[in-house]
Amino acid sequence: MMKNSAVYLDYNASTPCSAEVVESMLPFFSGDYANPTSTHVAGRIALRAVEQARLNIAKAFGVSPEEIIFTSGATESNCMVINGVAQKHQMRRRIVVGAGEHKSVLEPCKDLQERGFEVVSIPLKRSGVINVSEAEHLVNKNTLLVSVQGANNETGVVQPVRAIANLARSRGALVHCDAAQMPGKLPFHLDDIGVDYASLSAHKLYGPKGIGACYVRQGRPRAAVAPLLQGGGQEGELRAGTHNVPAIVGFGTACQLAVSLLHRSMLQVDSIRDSFESKLLELLPEVILVGATENRLPGTSCVIFTDVPADILLARASDLCISSGSACTSGTVSPSHVILACGYSRDEARCMVRVSFGRYSRAIDADLAATRLAECVKAIRGDLEAQPSDSFARTREHGHDV
Ligand code: PMP
Repeated sequence: MMKNSAVYLDYNASTPCSAEVVESMLPFFSGDYANPTSTHVAGRIALRAVEQARLNIAKAFGVSPEEIIFTSGATESNCMVINGVAQKHQMRRRIVVGAGEHKSVLEPCKDLQERGFEVVSIPLKRSGVINVSEAEHLVNKNTLLVSVQGANNETGVVQPVRAIANLARSRGALVHCDAAQMPGKLPFHLDDIGVDYASLSAHKLYGPKGIGACYVRQGRPRAAVAPLLQGGGQEGELRAGTHNVPAIVGFGTACQLAVSLLHRSMLQVDSIRDSFESKLLELLPEVILVGATENRLPGTSCVIFTDVPADILLARASDLCISSGSACTSGTVSPSHVILACGYSRDEARCMVRVSFGRYSRAIDADLAATRLAECVKAIRGDLEAQPSDSFARTREHGHDV
């Protein structure tokens, strides 16, 4: 599918738009291009398309269409919830978040901390799962919001969102779930898990980039949140700005397809990931598979190749599109905060590589990736032994939290 010859194994970072998605979007670029807030006939056609997409998305997640607010993606939805809840509800001052949350949850929380909120994080166990019994002590009567992701983007570990939501509600706190990684990978119904807010992203489920949604629970009382963007009053005044009609339509199609293909996709992707890990263990028995003992996203494999810095491995295995968990900010390199939160050392965290399979992965990709990675790891270990200077000090990582 990719134009270059590299094998794409980074489905947790982004997925290709499926052909059906692209086809459904096409009429809305230069045919039915009107602004859906215009009251003329062309505007009404665009509006109908937006509302049909909203309906499809709501149906896929078991909620009502008025609860779906279109945003530019999960980053915006996360920021909107964290900031918007803090702005709307000032009486309680504590925010509790999972230690392995995406930076788009952690960064706005850091800002709130500077503005006088108390932010505490729920530790992860070594297996990558949130420690629910620790959460029992952290969520108290002063807690405004608890934010826990559906599944982690690096380890693939599925988090006990329902248990955390029950706990939060018993203490009168609001609950947010960053669900960017769940749809299309595992069954995911928002009405089941009992959260007030959730963040969704189309490009993680074979839809276009730059579109997503924030689920805001309705009912009594509505889970109030202040808007991040103000202006024309779109999206129930929660997210102003002209609708990106083609992207919204594509998102709707992607959700419908995700539901109809889910079962087959889960089995297929799970079996490819499992055969990748078996082959890898056969070739390199010492690798650490983070999260392998937990309920994980079917396609995700999070591997620590001890003593082999991820940037060196990624450069060597350049025919594989895989990712390291490190982030490069202002020229300095920090190892994955998720792997550190699991209790691994900084050196171990810098040796973590994520391989993520998806809908268009082939069975042979598993064998190919395992063989190629083992080959590169052995070659790098050979090189490092030949010149035993401080390999870690020399490495430079690039990339962001994806
Ligand atoms: N949360 C999680 C768990 C993610 O994996 C991502 C994507 N890397 C995001 C949030 C951000 O999503 P988006 O790209 O839609 O802003």
